[in-house]
Amino acid sequence: MNYRGRFAPSPTGPLHFGSLVAALGSYLDAKHHHGTWLVRMEDLDAPRCVPGAADGILHTLEAFGLEWDGEVMYQSRRSEAYEAALQQLQDSGAAYPCGCTRREIADSALHGPDGPVYPGTCRNSLPAGREGRAWRVRTDLHPSPFSLPPSPVGYTDALQGPQSQHLERDIGDFVVKRADGLFAYQLAVVVDDAAQGVTHVVRGADLLDSTPRQLWLQGLLGLETPAYVHLPVAINAAGEKLSKQTLAPAIKSDEAIATLVAALEFLRQQPPAELRCGTVAEVLDWAVANWQPERLKGCRQRPAG
Ligand code: GLU
Repeated sequence: MNYRGRFAPSPTGPLHFGSLVAALGSYLDAKHHHGTWLVRMEDLDAPRCVPGAADGILHTLEAFGLEWDGEVMYQSRRSEAYEAALQQLQDSGAAYPCGCTRREIADSALHGPDGPVYPGTCRNSLPAGREGRAWRVRTDLHPSPFSLPPSPVGYTDALQGPQSQHLERDIGDFVVKRADGLFAYQLAVVVDDAAQGVTHVVRGADLLDSTPRQLWLQGLLGLETPAYVHLPVAINAAGEKLSKQTLAPAIKSDEAIATLVAALEFLRQQPPAELRCGTVAEVLDWAVANWQPERLKGCRQRPAG
């Protein structure tokens, strides 16, 4: 099989242990299968991106021996592809303009696993006097001419097992282009995974709830669905996901070997003690040859370090 995997960091700050785990897990899975490993900078949300962070992430990946194949893709340069996908959704009647404010949705809606469930206010037409601000896709398209996954949307994650989500009830019609004019992560990730020919998405389990939306968009756009592998998320002593918001410290390039070994232990790979005395390349060679992701079956989060 022609395996193509990817690591897709958002350059909102330096790599921390949690993002290293996603980078390393996706790299090992790709290389263990003699596949290609791509890097995509998810720098779509310019206001959240930190100047210099994308280059910093790439330098850190290099220092950790995680060499990517081909050119890095930058989402900030891909507006035309997202525009074309939105046009396709509009032409097929799957996307509609929404004039609701964030406040209105928050006030009126039920809460699902990913925030307020959109109540469908603008689905059939914009209320009088309203202008469309965002674009949403319908989640009520059964039966339809599209080759959509059946409702609830289900898939089997290689580590987390069978997953399913009732999109209309639990998420609601979701945004593909935001009121501020930015394309939404859900649309960009689907368009880019397809454009890069990604066959395997290996990423953190914090994105498990997003995957059904991505399957739905793949159905609407006529794109292939890759295999999904969701790795456990690294949490701190307070039980929070390591992130910029929870002030996760940056990983240090001059501690690459010790940090890689810690990331392998996090991924339950049982690296032998003597690896600590070797080189980065030796650590990665051992890890590629001995990669056993099944040791993480059912594991959604683990304490970091
Ligand atoms: N850019 C996303 C993040 O950093 C990852 C997206 C993905 O892997 O699908 O959380």
